Amino acid sequence: MRIDLHTHSSRSDGTEPPAELVRLAREAGLDVVAITDHDTTAGWDEAAAAADGVGIELVRGMELSTRHGGRSVHLLAYLTDPTDTDLLAETERVVAGRRERVPALLEKLTAAGFELTAEDIERATPPGAVTGRPHIADALVARGVVATRDEAFATVLGPNGPGFVRRYATPLLDAIDLVSRAGGVSVLAHPWARSSRQVLDPETVARLRDAGLTGLEVDHQDHDRDARAGLRGVAEELGLVVTGSSDWHGAGKADHELGCNTTDPEQYARLRAAARDAAAAAGRADSTEARR
Ligand code: AMP
Ligand code: FE
Ligand code: FE
Ligand code: ZN
Repeated sequence: MRIDLHTHSSRSDGTEPPAELVRLAREAGLDVVAITDHDTTAGWDEAAAAADGVGIELVRGMELSTRHGGRSVHLLAYLTDPTDTDLLAETERVVAGRRERVPALLEKLTAAGFELTAEDIERATPPGAVTGRPHIADALVARGVVATRDEAFATVLGPNGPGFVRRYATPLLDAIDLVSRAGGVSVLAHPWARSSRQVLDPETVARLRDAGLTGLEVDHQDHDRDARAGLRGVAEELGLVVTGSSDWHGAGKADHELGCNTTDPEQYARLRAAARDAAAAAGRADSTEARR
């Protein structure tokens, strides 16, 4: 059984629509795939309908934009109740921050001498998506300013770049709590990637577990062999679920092919069991089975 628990569709910064994501996941030989767009459940229904059609198990998820110790930390949230008003309000706050940042970002880029218009950015944002930096990166690529998204982040849109504008992100501990209260489970996404490793030392991860964290994404392209071995040890010590995933973005991210990392079926079973417990503890009538 091949399980990939982290992918993006064009409802956030992936390049393929949810139905196409699911079809390609089946084509890649996956039995289970999670859709985890940034801060939105907008792709869930389309992905679910497609999953029924092609015969693949869909896990409904999101990748939440959080902050801890001044650093950006990504938190995968699985099997939450999409109607939970607290979680919904919080993701809407993040999405609004992302959307409202665009004019300021454009102004900074213009001041720095980049020729880019609001129309360029709109054109680079797929239907149903909220403009994020990856789309602005695509607009810069289309304009011939840079060659790739990566280059745009490295030279223009990153924290030290001329086009950086900070936006709101949920405090990490709040996010973990919101996910639990929405009857779902949370897994730290690529915790030891360069951007978040400093603030996610083993002691901190232990505190996050005590606050309700269920798992660690260990097998991810941003982790080298040493990072994976180290994280696996931390997970084992703390009793956390270990996941492995592609973080696929379609054409939006190189070297993240569907199924390039996968989750052990035993670990996936643990994740689902934790979600059942979380749903029961949160008093959700609908079981994870009903929401599958
Ligand atoms: P935003 O949430 O709009 O600030 O954009 C941040 C998103 O950009 C992250 O969630 C990543 O998915 C994406 N991202 C960050 N760095 C890169 C990169 N070097 N290349 C492509 N996408 C990136
Ligand atoms: Fe992304
Ligand atoms: Fe991420
Ligand atoms: Zn991701």
